[in-house]
Amino acid sequence: MSSAYDVVVIGAGTGGYVAAIRAAQLGKKVAVVEKQKALGGTCLIWGCIPTKALLEHAHALKIVQNAKEWGVTIPAGTPSIDMGQVQARKDKIVGGLTKGIEFLFKKNKIDWIKGTARLAGHGRVEVTDGASQTLEAKHIVIATGSQPRSIPGIEIDRTRIITSDEAIALKSVPKSIVILGSGAVGVEFASIYRRFGSEVTIIELLPRLVPNEDEAVSAELEKSFKKQGIKTLVGTKVTKAAATAGSVDIEVQDGAGKSQKLSAELLLVATGRGPVTTGLGVEALGIELEKGYVKVDSLYRTSVPGISAIGDVITMGAAPHPQLAHVSSMEGIIAAERIAGHDVQLLNYEHVPGCTYCDPEIGSVGLTEAEATRRGYDVKIGTFPFGVLGRAKMAGETEGFVKIVADKKYDEILGVHMIGPRSTELVAEAVLALRLECTVEELVRTIHAHPTFSEAVGEASHAAHGAAIHM
Ligand SMILES: Cc1cc2nc3c(=O)[nH]c(=O)nc-3n(C[C@H](O)[C@H](O)[C@H](O)COP(=O)(O)OP(=O)(O)OC[C@H]3O[C@@H](n4cnc5c(N)ncnc54)[C@H](O)[C@@H]3O)c2cc1C
Repeated sequence: MSSAYDVVVIGAGTGGYVAAIRAAQLGKKVAVVEKQKALGGTCLIWGCIPTKALLEHAHALKIVQNAKEWGVTIPAGTPSIDMGQVQARKDKIVGGLTKGIEFLFKKNKIDWIKGTARLAGHGRVEVTDGASQTLEAKHIVIATGSQPRSIPGIEIDRTRIITSDEAIALKSVPKSIVILGSGAVGVEFASIYRRFGSEVTIIELLPRLVPNEDEAVSAELEKSFKKQGIKTLVGTKVTKAAATAGSVDIEVQDGAGKSQKLSAELLLVATGRGPVTTGLGVEALGIELEKGYVKVDSLYRTSVPGISAIGDVITMGAAPHPQLAHVSSMEGIIAAERIAGHDVQLLNYEHVPGCTYCDPEIGSVGLTEAEATRRGYDVKIGTFPFGVLGRAKMAGETEGFVKIVADKKYDEILGVHMIGPRSTELVAEAVLALRLECTVEELVRTIHAHPTFSEAVGEASHAAHGAAIHM
């Protein structure tokens, strides 16, 4: 059987399903091939949604643990978490959202072809596993995403040495967990399982937690984690990890060559994700790859005409490509618009917000202070702590700050970095400020409602002019 489409998208993650919807909105006949039983890919099934659902549970437990302060009386006993209910609620949220994409496909007349896709030649996609068929397509979009990967010497057994795929689905709270890697995934699980009651240790090869963030943010997170009882071993590498019946034996070595042994119920490997291209037939078609990633230009065209690629599976050559849901979706929109013959605006990767939902949350966009200095800017900084704000005091969330990095010469905002309550929401204002090339003065003149957390953004801009009002 063969069917003809304008666009066939391979993979229904946040890149693929958004590209499909945008192409359909622009009048294209679209099919999406997805091998999973549900739509939504990593973000909905194993990534953003399940982890943030678990973090909301952790936040609820935090409020209950502090019930006395809130004047809420609860029966005697230590509040604890019921993992059965946590998993049931999380699964309900995931199920509802994946069904929502099925609805959007129907609404936009997009065919979901169930099965595994393989490129079968120019303009041809072969689907197996489901009803075997060949699809003909004027345009093909590869959006096959990424999967967890380990580091040499550490074998993931998915029982004791696990990935985020298993960490979102634990049926009980582990007594102890060692987390390898302190990027977004690592520190989010540290927050979740520490709050649920586990002993948590994070091991990071680089000298600080969340090493892609501004140094001040890393320092604040380390301070907070210490207070919460999360152990951090930075500048440390794992040299050995062996699973036994009931635990994992881990050997680590610090920068000075000093070794130590750790033991934990679980080792979570959160050292990054690799591209999914196995069996896709990319090599046979001559599509250029780089370290396994599909190489694309700034309009998401691969080296083979008629085949585009977006999302976690791509590389653009220079800087590492951010593996984020919102990046993949925007790439999907741009690719679909270009395929439909529209003029498109290139994505500015320097304006991609980074949100990390650990406790306290991190939101950042643009240049860090170190990067702005490295690029030769004469940098000025404005920092304002959340703790001074009435709203933060009311919420009992007083940790952290907003830091603005700006250029002294033109007053232009170069980056905004925040750690503290609602930072993953507050960063949206900073993203717009960067997109509109705002000056600090324009942020100073922007009214921030009172009492809100967003006052910290306004006050940080005042601080960058040396004139914070409430400090
Ligand atoms: C634990 C965790 C937490 C995360 N949290 C966040 C977050 O808070 N915010 C954020 O922005 N990002 C987050 N991410 C990253 C985000 O999930 C990814 O960047 C995003 O899902 C990438 O989308 P994608 O469409 O490129 O690929 P994916 O979502 O990986 O989708 C690819 C799809 O292609 C399908 N597929 C692959 N090969 C084939 C084939 N041959 N045939 C048919 N189907 C195929 C797969 O089944 C999959 O459904 C998180 C990731 C993880 C692991």
